[in-house]
Amino acid sequence: MHSVVLHTREKKTNGAKHRYSRSSLPSIVTIRELEWIEKPRFRGWGCSECGWVFNPSGAPTGKSLDESLRNFELQRDKEFTAHVCAEHPRTKRKER
Ligand SMILES: [Zn+2]
Repeated sequence: MHSVVLHTREKKTNGAKHRYSRSSLPSIVTIRELEWIEKPRFRGWGCSECGWVFNPSGAPTGKSLDESLRNFELQRDKEFTAHVCAEHPRTKRKER
């Protein structure tokens, strides 16, 4: 599933004869999402917008499976929120 959300802002002027300045170009906002990545070499959570992947530090801890899962998700969400897409450029594969 690939979903790219583009937000374009169109400003409408009501009969005004102003010219648009170049600085008011529509802004393109992509919303990053946690994505389940399944590749031969990697299976896990990653960012939909960059090359960031979640590397759990050790096995999840918890008294029960439920708690372990919750801790895992908390850690994952925390690291996902904290990462900066620009610092994790997606490695481009060269098509042969
Ligand atoms: Zn990212």
